[in-house]
Amino acid sequence: MSAVSPMQDAAPGGWIVLKFGGTSVSRRHRWDTIGKLAKQRAEQTGSRVLVVVSALSGVTNELTAIAEGAADGAARVAALEQRHRDFLADLELDADAVLGERLAALRGLLDDPRAATRPLDWQAEVLGQGELLSSTLGAAYLRAQGLDMGWTDARDWLDALPPQPNQSEWSRRLSVNCQWQADDAWRARFAAQPTRLLITQGFIARHTEGGTAILGRGGSDTSAAYFGALLGAGRVEIWTDVPGMFSANPREVPDARLLNRLGYAEAQEITTTGAKVLHPRSIKPCRDSGVPMAILDTERPELPGTSIDRSAATVPGVKAISRRNGVVLVSVEDIGMWQQVGYLAEVFALFRRHGLSVDMIGTSQTNVTVSLDPSENLLSENVLAALAADLEKIGRVKVIVPCAAITLVGRGMRSLLHRLSDVFSSFGHERVHMISQSSNDLNLTFVIDEADADGLLPELHAALIDSGAMPVLEKDVFGPRWRELDGAVRPRPLPWWHGERGRLLRMAQAGTPRYVYHLPTVRERARALKSVAAVDHRYYAIKANPHPAVLRALVEEGFGLECVSLGELHHVFAALPQLDPKRVLFTPSFAPVDEYAQAFALGVTVTLDNVEALRRWPEVFRGRQLWLRIDLGHGDGHHQKVNTGGKDSKFGLSAQRVDEFVDAARALGTTITGLHAHLGSGVENMGHWRQMCDELAGFARRIGTVSTLDIGGGLPIPYSADDEPFDVAAWAAGLAEVRAVHPAFELVIEPGRYLVAEAGVLLARATQVIEKDGVRRVGLDAGMNALARPALYDAWHDVANLERLDEAADGVFDVVGPICESSDVFGRHRHLPAATAPGEVMLIADAGAYGHAMASTYNQRALPDEDVIDGAAD
Ligand code: ADP
Ligand code: ASP
Ligand code: MG
Repeated sequence: MSAVSPMQDAAPGGWIVLKFGGTSVSRRHRWDTIGKLAKQRAEQTGSRVLVVVSALSGVTNELTAIAEGAADGAARVAALEQRHRDFLADLELDADAVLGERLAALRGLLDDPRAATRPLDWQAEVLGQGELLSSTLGAAYLRAQGLDMGWTDARDWLDALPPQPNQSEWSRRLSVNCQWQADDAWRARFAAQPTRLLITQGFIARHTEGGTAILGRGGSDTSAAYFGALLGAGRVEIWTDVPGMFSANPREVPDARLLNRLGYAEAQEITTTGAKVLHPRSIKPCRDSGVPMAILDTERPELPGTSIDRSAATVPGVKAISRRNGVVLVSVEDIGMWQQVGYLAEVFALFRRHGLSVDMIGTSQTNVTVSLDPSENLLSENVLAALAADLEKIGRVKVIVPCAAITLVGRGMRSLLHRLSDVFSSFGHERVHMISQSSNDLNLTFVIDEADADGLLPELHAALIDSGAMPVLEKDVFGPRWRELDGAVRPRPLPWWHGERGRLLRMAQAGTPRYVYHLPTVRERARALKSVAAVDHRYYAIKANPHPAVLRALVEEGFGLECVSLGELHHVFAALPQLDPKRVLFTPSFAPVDEYAQAFALGVTVTLDNVEALRRWPEVFRGRQLWLRIDLGHGDGHHQKVNTGGKDSKFGLSAQRVDEFVDAARALGTTITGLHAHLGSGVENMGHWRQMCDELAGFARRIGTVSTLDIGGGLPIPYSADDEPFDVAAWAAGLAEVRAVHPAFELVIEPGRYLVAEAGVLLARATQVIEKDGVRRVGLDAGMNALARPALYDAWHDVANLERLDEAADGVFDVVGPICESSDVFGRHRHLPAATAPGEVMLIADAGAYGHAMASTYNQRALPDEDVIDGAAD
């Protein structure tokens, strides 16, 4: 990690500003950390240290309710007093001696005559109490610990800027900006304070008319930045409850990456568009006065955090995805004066009149739509109603609320559009009200209904990484995942082939390309699924890998087999002549009708997915029992092409036509005994499974004859080092809950990939190693004809040089095949030993599913051979 040393820029004799947020000041041991850090910084740099603190966590919320006139204001004040008294007891301090006066002042505000009408100056005073309390108790505690810590009132140093002409009354008092260009007199006066260490409040400043002004929610960061700029500090450190700024809110996206180092402009954009970790107004003062910033974790001060400074490397690509809730869209339709000079000015004049600052703008022939950001505006119903009434005079007004603005942030957004197709398709499920691309080429924003945004960010984040739009391999910028730092990553165990190198090399002697399947791995995966108690029956989807040895191993492990064609049925019974047909499912799609007839004759369980077949060939289905495959109207999966639900999917009976199917079946004396749905491949979200079971069970109850729910397959495997193994235990726990809700039905699964993908490798020999225009390519004697997944789905497969497995991967290669297609590429920028040479045996990992099964003789290249390893390693 390329963290900047915390001391790097601090000038001896100057200042360092440390800001601690709400959670950082709410526990005793964190105050110990604050004291330690303040002392350390002062000693290591020779600087003086200014500590800026927020209120204890949750306190500003309470004060906001009181300021807004909550009916139980007195009770809330009493609870706040108790909270602080309890904390002082924990700190072993005398509450009356330390906070007596401040608590009296807080109570006094309720008795103040202004409390009746709640003018903004009174509200500001109420809001400011939290920081006054926390800084006072903190100073007392640190002094009790032997630190020479001075206390100062921020309102003596930070001056709110004079009101701007178009500013609302609210923001003139409760969301102010401050003056941050200091003169020498100011600095001298500040420096004249006697102690080397000082503590002050965030969030509050002096109003131009006297009294308290507030910097807006989360504004303590900005207080620290103002002090940093005013003091010409060596550094401003923001200490909080996460170890830095991440590529998304880590609480919503556990796979979010730490951003090691950023420039001011990108950091600004990330905070403006919603990353609450830093107040958006805090960057400009530091940027303009050249003060570096850092974001650090009070609970884990040893972690390097995020540095924001002028000399951070510029790497093109998406750095973060952020989300703002509570966004209001105001759209004005049928504007009568379209194309008249100044019509936009007329529209915006009305926003100005209501003191509203506009965020994004979209215009068309007849419509102007703007978004309003809740953190910059007081978006009360009154304000919006008054605005709407005025806008009605210009055109038809629609206010859409609450919306979420989801923003991709990073330099060079325009040149990334071609990589964003999966991102766009993730939004395809939702109604997008507005798309806005900033003129500084730093952001792309989608506005959707707030309810639709839940669960979307992890999906978008993954799509950004998969598409390469978020360049997470750039170590200057991107660090570890949140989950890794949190110790919650389950590492992928070393693949089996590391222990079978000798045997694999010998097998390669017999000819390449060659697939090798490791049956112990197949059995291991089968046993993992057998441990999922909520599932009653398991079928292996043989299309993934129909090798007879694989089928036999899985049948021995208690699996039934699922086939999608008559050819597969014949193949299964040829490989396993004794197999009970009851252990075989037939789930075809658009198959010729005689395949259904023959399947019934074989005695296997047939699944049908349309009414038309029942009507056209009644004799085939009359009196039979069958399962019905339903399209629940939504799909998911690792790639658009493996989504198997929704209008664009060819699979399954539309949920709207279930009743029609049931009637047609009944007329034929056909009984529906099972229901089947399949969401797609690589579905990791338990919510999808739960929803699917609920929906299937709903249909099953309506139909009445159904005893089995088949929830398909789609279990993912970790293809890249970044993926984690599928958490079978968590899935089992989730399914157990689902099962408990629907005890009447037996659950069936039919995984394919999960059982066999990791068990298979493709061995190929390097043919040529060629350098062209700075790109080094290693060619293999296997191409997309042997393994189609990379060309077909942009799938990732690890590639290794089996002959140099122990050597450092110190070369970078594109790994390509011999097929005359430009998509014949197994992987780009792969790290392999630089000495990799023609003739060496290379291994493509995780090729056991949809490898040989999809192989072709394209370009008249022979199909790869297949081998099996059973038993222990040699
Ligand atoms: P403090 O009270 O210390 O000021 P905040 O709650 O204001 O802390 O900010 C920290 C929180 O910001 C984190 O707990 C996290 O949930 C949230 N957050 C949102 N977006 C991001 C992001 N991109 N990176 C890190 N944290 C983020
Ligand atoms: N205490 C204030 C708030 O909660 C300021 C801050 O924490 O930054 O908004
Ligand atoms: Mg904050």
